[in-house]
Amino acid sequence: MGKALIIGAGGVANVVIHKCCQNPDVFEEICIASRTLDKCEAIKNKLTGSKTVIQTAQVDADNTDMLINLINKFRPDIVINVALPYQDLTIMDACLATGVHYLDTANYEPPEIPKFEYKWQWAYRDKFEKAGITALLGSGFDPGVTSVFCAYAQKHYFDEIHYIDIVDANAGDHGYPFATNFNPEINIREITAKGSYWEKGNWVETEPLELKRVYNLPEIGPKDIYLLHHEEIESLALNIKGVKRIRFWMTFSEKYLTHLRVLENVGMTSIEPIDFEGKKIIPLQFLKAVLPDPASLGPRTKGKTNIGCIIQGVKDGKPRTYYVYNVCVHEECYAEVGSQAISYTTGVPAMIGAMMILKGIWKGPGVFNIEEFDPDPFMEELNRCGLPWKESFAPGLID
Ligand code: NDP
Repeated sequence: MGKALIIGAGGVANVVIHKCCQNPDVFEEICIASRTLDKCEAIKNKLTGSKTVIQTAQVDADNTDMLINLINKFRPDIVINVALPYQDLTIMDACLATGVHYLDTANYEPPEIPKFEYKWQWAYRDKFEKAGITALLGSGFDPGVTSVFCAYAQKHYFDEIHYIDIVDANAGDHGYPFATNFNPEINIREITAKGSYWEKGNWVETEPLELKRVYNLPEIGPKDIYLLHHEEIESLALNIKGVKRIRFWMTFSEKYLTHLRVLENVGMTSIEPIDFEGKKIIPLQFLKAVLPDPASLGPRTKGKTNIGCIIQGVKDGKPRTYYVYNVCVHEECYAEVGSQAISYTTGVPAMIGAMMILKGIWKGPGVFNIEEFDPDPFMEELNRCGLPWKESFAPGLID
């Protein structure tokens, strides 16, 4: 049916590629392109015998001309961007220049400003519309599946949604005193930034990790959850009409937070360049270099994740509460594709989003957040592709 160029060869890319190869009728040919060719080759070598034809290429995705050359050579139908958020705009530019659909899992963030905002990518709406191609933003788990969960709730269960609490819990243990489950630089920038939530049409800002609750998660049990700013809040506030409050919560263990506090206190999480032996270095990038590679956590991580949305609103004039979530087991993900559940829960929806576009189920010229499309076919694929979801109509609520 189609050809996909996959940019990046990290933990998430590994899952996307395995999942594309499990759907060879849709993904007939793929090209894995990243900064380090060896990493692309290593993933390709794990998939010998796959019906999907796999090529590899070296590319610097900060360089639009290099991307354009690669796209012109491979002629994909879609580019799946699972490199870093810093590359979103250069890759979107290359897609525009070549008339190819675009998909990512994280919104653009300028390297020097630790702030997730859609404004840079939403500024491409006209250009994509005029070019007649689709850009699908945020097709991971959160953003991604959580946004589709909200669209599904809106379509099937509510006349009006008033409150959304997204809860992302990881009860997995990798055995290291401190490691991040996805790219350490992106992860630590997210957690050390100020928190915020959407209430009555405004952003309410909090100090980093200031708001804490305990939530009893199905299959995981009670966990400390902390309020973070998260990018899907911004698009859901626009796309879920009448919503009054949206908050995002994530679990962190006391051990993780203690390490993070020490690293912050000694300046290791800073993104301000410093002079080191005659060279400028960014402490957070140096820290990334000494921390375990998230892609290496797969064989060590045991336990479950639970990510979902607790939604309150009204249906037929009566109050209604709805909870939809997915539970994923780290060891099962590793056994299937050689990655832990954080990469798995991101990579599967990226593949499904690309499938929706290649099959023409989701179409339209322009730049779209994932909740703008019909959630039903995506929800069906989640069940088929390894991320089954569960529902409850009487969940505990977060005050
Ligand atoms: P990794 O750090 O494991 O992988 C990133 C990959 O991108 C690496 O292969 C890296 O190459 C490559 N890369 C970085 N810069 C460039 C460049 N300039 N040109 C070409 N390739 C480049 O990250 P993850 O796989 O953990 O995460 C991938 C993406 O998924 C990130 O954007 C992350 O924010 C997002 N994500 C989204 C989630 C969601 O639920 N929506 C959850 C988790 C992650 P090299 O190896 O050479 O450095």
